[in-house]
Amino acid sequence: MPDTFSTTAGEVRITPIFHASVLLEAGGKAVFIDPYSQGDFTGLPKADLVLITHIHGDHNDPKALAQVRTGTTVVYTPANVAKTVPGALVMNNGETVHWGDFTIEAVAMYNLVRGPSAGTFFHPKGLGNGYIVSYGGKRFYFSGDTEATPEFRVLKNIDVAFVCMNLPFTMTPAEAAGGVRAMHPAVVYPYHYRNGDKTMQDLSVFQKALDGTHIDVRLRNWYPGS
Ligand SMILES: [Zn+2]
Repeated sequence: MPDTFSTTAGEVRITPIFHASVLLEAGGKAVFIDPYSQGDFTGLPKADLVLITHIHGDHNDPKALAQVRTGTTVVYTPANVAKTVPGALVMNNGETVHWGDFTIEAVAMYNLVRGPSAGTFFHPKGLGNGYIVSYGGKRFYFSGDTEATPEFRVLKNIDVAFVCMNLPFTMTPAEAAGGVRAMHPAVVYPYHYRNGDKTMQDLSVFQKALDGTHIDVRLRNWYPGS
């Protein structure tokens, strides 16, 4: 079931799909973030806009993109992803685009410490985008795969944040909560919390760490059927 948020331009509906895959609907438009074919797209609309955070297969998935894309779907991706997605438009960290009544900002997403070997990173800085989607005066942030970087911590005026927490690729729930305390969104959804070995992060740790902050932590099932 979608969650709804009121804005000055009407309702925004949010549907969690799977892992980091989210559908945002507003103003008659369907925006998919990181469509991933492990999710069930049955009954969902086709995409008017798709935002892909980075090149990994759980975010940049040609099969899922084909399921939601039409001849008029606009697709924004980082530069290295655009090389693999015909017709994609490039956004780099720090860029802002206006798309109809929406504003899209690309923000850095990257590892501070974690990588496949010493001195390397699962997500090197500059190759991935988190996105802030603004509509009707409300700002929705999708972290992609990141640690609680300085850029993450200083994000301002976020109404609704979708924040990753998994190992070994991103960060722990405690680290995520520390970053979210600094960012202080009104609402936060933990997402992308299944680890590389298919176990799940303990979201109660995240929830408890935000006790007393008045940040509304919303737990949803991002892994239906698993
Ligand atoms: Zn991922």
